[in-house]
Amino acid sequence: MRLSYTAISSYERCPLAYRYRYVDGIEEEPSPHLSFGRSLHAALEWLYRRDVPVPPSLEELQEHLLSCWSREGFEDEEQEESFLEHAREVLTCYYHANVADFRLPVALEERFELNMGGYILSGVIDRVDRHPDGKYEIIDYKTNRRLPELSRLREDLQLPIYQLACGEVWGITPSKLTFYYLVPNQRFSTRPLDEEGLARVRERIDGVAELISHGEFEPTPNRLCDWCSYRDICPAFDRAEDAERSFRSRHRALLKRRERLDELISELEAEMSSLGFSLEDDATECD
Ligand code: SF4
Repeated sequence: MRLSYTAISSYERCPLAYRYRYVDGIEEEPSPHLSFGRSLHAALEWLYRRDVPVPPSLEELQEHLLSCWSREGFEDEEQEESFLEHAREVLTCYYHANVADFRLPVALEERFELNMGGYILSGVIDRVDRHPDGKYEIIDYKTNRRLPELSRLREDLQLPIYQLACGEVWGITPSKLTFYYLVPNQRFSTRPLDEEGLARVRERIDGVAELISHGEFEPTPNRLCDWCSYRDICPAFDRAEDAERSFRSRHRALLKRRERLDELISELEAEMSSLGFSLEDDATECD
């Protein structure tokens, strides 16, 4: 079993939504907010991925935003343009607030995998900085419009998981864990967890892994159901208890996924044949 922060928080919010996404493999609907967040992350990765600690100009950064802009999930061009304009403003604010202290991070979009015994815990850390005093800071960018309640931030597993990863994979103990909320241009920093706190995090993740391995996938209606990609196939909202409708919707979603997989296979095969790679061996193995 592979778990990530996103998968764990999805399970904790609603086990059935987790099952649709991670067991059945039904992709979530693309949305303007997902594209907005993905594009800003890509632009900031580009800002810091350089050989020497000299930042590009703001104009170059804005140009790069255009080239990495994700166009999925928008209703029309007008909506896309307003999100793009907003992303430009957010990047400009970020740039002005941070360019004076520009330094190269020690890790950027860094993937990790931890063997937790019965499962693999994996993820991608946006950034790790090493400050002039030699202390490390883990930074995760957030693109939510609204700031979260502090009580929810304190319960959040993301930064503690990254702290675990930094310790296990690179032997680094960070002195600060930071969520950087890009839209209001506001940082929330906390001290790292002590051994006891980390042990509680491990226990919580182990608990989720155990429930998943026992096939516990009850729908759990919550305040985010209105934005859930699976609402139209979720039995919790099937008021007429029309099981056939629910199965048909799920079937349609899986057919859609198969169609997308066929497209991806065709693209890969075209690329392989253009490079002169034979597909015969793979076909024999599949047979
Ligand atoms: S609609 Fe709500 S209850 Fe149903 S799967 Fe989504 S989050 Fe869970």
